[in-house]
Amino acid sequence: MMRLLLLTALLLSSVVQAAEPADSAAKLRDAALGNGEAYRFLEAMTTEVPLRLAATESEAKAAAWLTARLKAMGFSNVRSERFPMPRFDRGVETASITAPFPQPLHITALGRSGATPPEGLEAEVVRFASLDDLRAVPDGSLTGRIAYVTHAMVRTQDGSSYGAAGAVRRSGPSIAAKKGAAAILIRSLGTDHQRNPHAGSNSWDAGQAPIPAAAMSLPDAEQLDRVFARGRPVTIRLVLTPRITTGTSQNVLAEIPGSDPVLGKEVVLIGGHYDAWDLATGAQDDASGCAIVVAAAKTILDAKLKPKRTIRVVLFGAEEPGIFGGRAYAEAHKAEVHALAAESDFGAGRVYQISSRVNEAALPVVRDMVRLVAPLGVSGTRDNDNRGGPDLVALAEAGVPTLEAQQDGLHYFDVHHTPDDTLDKVEPAALAQNSAVYAVIAWVAANSGVAFAPVKP
Ligand SMILES: [Zn+2]
Repeated sequence: MMRLLLLTALLLSSVVQAAEPADSAAKLRDAALGNGEAYRFLEAMTTEVPLRLAATESEAKAAAWLTARLKAMGFSNVRSERFPMPRFDRGVETASITAPFPQPLHITALGRSGATPPEGLEAEVVRFASLDDLRAVPDGSLTGRIAYVTHAMVRTQDGSSYGAAGAVRRSGPSIAAKKGAAAILIRSLGTDHQRNPHAGSNSWDAGQAPIPAAAMSLPDAEQLDRVFARGRPVTIRLVLTPRITTGTSQNVLAEIPGSDPVLGKEVVLIGGHYDAWDLATGAQDDASGCAIVVAAAKTILDAKLKPKRTIRVVLFGAEEPGIFGGRAYAEAHKAEVHALAAESDFGAGRVYQISSRVNEAALPVVRDMVRLVAPLGVSGTRDNDNRGGPDLVALAEAGVPTLEAQQDGLHYFDVHHTPDDTLDKVEPAALAQNSAVYAVIAWVAANSGVAFAPVKP
């Protein structure tokens, strides 16, 4: 009888132990949903350090603000890690159609644009209905002219159209330069019809001298299309005076140290990027991501729970101009074991799906996470090849398991990289839902007895 009682007690205690992390995760989920932590952080960040263009004094000020705030919140090992990078200063940016129907255009320079002479340049414009059409013309055939490239980006929940249409902005300038163009104008990558151009980065092929490159608002692009439809020669006057120099940025790190003597050395990374384009306060992109992961970790801290693995919040600098922060982090921390990494960088729309890139043996743990966040309207996916966010690309390449809480992006590209990316666009309840999901992800990953690595290359 005694033995039976003992056995029952043992069994019960193992059931309790197995259930404990899930019980805690559910409590953390509910706490994050109701504590207002994420919105409080987002409101403060976008109000007190509203300008965060990479490698500028404003971005450095934001890093100092974040460091002080994370320390005050009670996190451990709060620090920043600096890295060198090119610095972009916007300068003057104006454009107007000078013939056949003179009128101004609303434009903004791309992140690695070359400059026009200070007085600008005026040239005939050649229109391309797609990037492929631009690719198809012979090298040197656009000498002395401005290339204008449009595209057909559409609204999608997962943002996949940005990936497809995005080549116009990323590669269009370099291709136009190869064709001899004096400058390039593109239809902004966006889904709104406000008269706001969408900023963004571009790249140049090795050895390619930069040409002036800018994006125009969608209403302006469609107006230009109508002007072209008249069949008469079109000329545009363009003034762009950006400056590219050298500077530094920094990543900001904060931790809840792991309590397990062995697993405590492993890191569960949750992150976002705190830099933003200079046209707005970057409330969606990506102050929201920062607020979501900070609030998730703060909820764990406030519950006085001790994770087995170390939970590390990483707020990356300089994502926008080319993922400089993510690459610097991966290099600086390559000797550490990252059990799992997840970045929130798609605004503040509700999470609808969790997808991962983990060892097959760890898929049941991901399913546990999904089960815990199912009451928040989140489902799982059979797909196991999600690389977890832009700043995690280098970590994922190095074999770190990744996970993404996929957010509803139907309206994300209405304000993405425009002057309208401001706090009023963020729904507090949706932001809280995100932080509840991250609290569950971080807690379950930090306490799982299963390893998420190695992943298939
Ligand atoms: Zn972003």
